[in-house]
Amino acid sequence: MKDGSVDQERDVIVGIDLGTTNSLVAFMQDNHPVCVQDTNGKNTLVPSVVHFTAAEQVLVGDAAKNLLVSDPAHTIYSVKRLMGKSYKDVAGFQGFFGYKILDDDAESLVKIRVQDRYYTPVELSAWILRELKTRAESRLGAKVSKAVITVPAYFNDNQRQATRDAGKLAGLDVLRIVNEPTAAALAYGIGLAPQQSECIAVYDLGGGTFDISILQIQDGIFEVLATNGDTFLGGDDFDRAVIDFFLKQLNIDAEILAEEKSLGQEIRLQAEAAKKALSTADQFEGRIGGKAVRISRTEFESLVQPLVQRTLDCCRNALSDAKLQTHQIQKIVMVGGSTRVPLVKQQVSAFFQQPVFDNLNPDEVVALGAAIQADILAGNQKDLLLLDVTPLSLGIETVGGLMDTIIARNSKVPNKAGRQYTTSVDGQKNLKIAVFQGERDLVEHNRKLGEFVLRGIPPMPAGLPKIDIQFILNADGILTVRASELRSGVAQEVDIRPTYGIDEEEMARMLLDSIAHAQEDRQVRGLLEARNEANNLLYSGEKFLEQNRAILAAEEVEQTKKLLNDLLEATKLDDKDVIHRAIETLNTYTSPLAHRAMDTTIRAAMRGTKVSEG
Ligand code: ADP
Ligand code: MG
Repeated sequence: MKDGSVDQERDVIVGIDLGTTNSLVAFMQDNHPVCVQDTNGKNTLVPSVVHFTAAEQVLVGDAAKNLLVSDPAHTIYSVKRLMGKSYKDVAGFQGFFGYKILDDDAESLVKIRVQDRYYTPVELSAWILRELKTRAESRLGAKVSKAVITVPAYFNDNQRQATRDAGKLAGLDVLRIVNEPTAAALAYGIGLAPQQSECIAVYDLGGGTFDISILQIQDGIFEVLATNGDTFLGGDDFDRAVIDFFLKQLNIDAEILAEEKSLGQEIRLQAEAAKKALSTADQFEGRIGGKAVRISRTEFESLVQPLVQRTLDCCRNALSDAKLQTHQIQKIVMVGGSTRVPLVKQQVSAFFQQPVFDNLNPDEVVALGAAIQADILAGNQKDLLLLDVTPLSLGIETVGGLMDTIIARNSKVPNKAGRQYTTSVDGQKNLKIAVFQGERDLVEHNRKLGEFVLRGIPPMPAGLPKIDIQFILNADGILTVRASELRSGVAQEVDIRPTYGIDEEEMARMLLDSIAHAQEDRQVRGLLEARNEANNLLYSGEKFLEQNRAILAAEEVEQTKKLLNDLLEATKLDDKDVIHRAIETLNTYTSPLAHRAMDTTIRAAMRGTKVSEG
């Protein structure tokens, strides 16, 4: 066995921090977690950036990050912000991204367009995960197929599921999704002693986001009492403050900068270098465009002071949500590269009136903790309590025969999770709910556990009913599925026994199948989702034409009809990108028409005229 490599007989489970700015992979070596370095043995961070070259090659990490300024349209960063989000969710911060996010009005999940292709955040994250997997494999000299992946504590069910899907697509069996603050605490050994009960705060200031989490730890269970933060506050803002400072020093107009990309890039790089240097030095001196620039630690601190203050306001809110006072917090864990800034440490420490935990590398601590969690799951830490988990995912069938997971495999038991659905046809009265178990994207490849019909939904237009489906899994593994239409209160409930009749072997086979078929499943899912979206649009497009004929010019009606027909034709092909292109063309053309229709309706309403129901 090579020095430093691990026992190949045993499966290595890696821990992955899939970050907004940087990602890392770690594993246990001689009972200690270590982060995997790049081949130069220098860097453990992989920038979470994906670049598509003209030849449709994919670059990940530093190589991609270097192209951010020169080729923003093909370089995708911050994809974590889009995980499990719909267009509606991200509408407010479109301007933040340098690449093309499709801006349909729809509730469907976001897609990103690069040239003529459409990617989901799941697919893009899978590229980053593949890079980490490859890195770990070359470091370990063995195949890596199991992982624990961390997510922010505030991630909802959709975002967690999307992260799992990305892992599967990258060829990883995701054993557990772990909260980032929990992982950070584990890295410091907090919560590993069985009887301990305490409240801790995890302060995470990364590249573009700030999160504060208050956790209560008891008997190995980490409960999130409160989270708070700012999704647009982080080290990037520190950089921006330094950039402005240098611009003033050099007497350069911000507008000039927009045109001179290489100068802009140079200032950006120098600003980040200055910020990092000032974490240990008192002075920074550099050169930009041949001219000297300088900044002192004191100057830097007065620039970022208001930003740090904002993080403290979030801490105060989190504490008040958790109904705790600073003296009731026993430990403060510092996470994220930006907590290297001494002012940040000082102020956080002053706020909580105690020293902070900052011995570990703040940008590695989450990955290190994920590796520890992986080791616990592997059964290498025998004395630790392991909660019972569901062996396979549980979900329902949605339009097109797709599996929609409600309780993911490896979730704690007992468990309760739910999701809301709606109807796809006007006046729909009944809804069939078919419950499945398994990891594949199409229900036909999974195991059917049962079905029932929710009857008596009062007639409403498609999309209006709010059908809530709850999965309640009790400690004995019995699943109760409850469906109710929230507007009318119509409800129905059934009990199902999920694992009945499946042995270990079959479970393992179902799991391996799902990873082996992840790529093709994803393609089928992509196509079916595109078709569903197209069908919804065809339906609402026809309705729109019917209802708004009066305010549309004849050629507008003609053109809309033509585009609807193009879309209909596109759905007959087996290419999701063709469908997405047709959707985008139709949306681009009709969105001003829809606005006009809305204005007319509002104006009519304000005049007190009764608006016809169409
Ligand atoms: P994320 O969790 O968002 O993926 P990280 O925890 O890796 O991000 O933090 C990245 C941020 O940390 C960047 O803004 C980077 O400039 C900053 N950073 C890294 N090292 C230092 C340092 N020595 N001093 C100050 N900031 C730093
Ligand atoms: Mg992070």
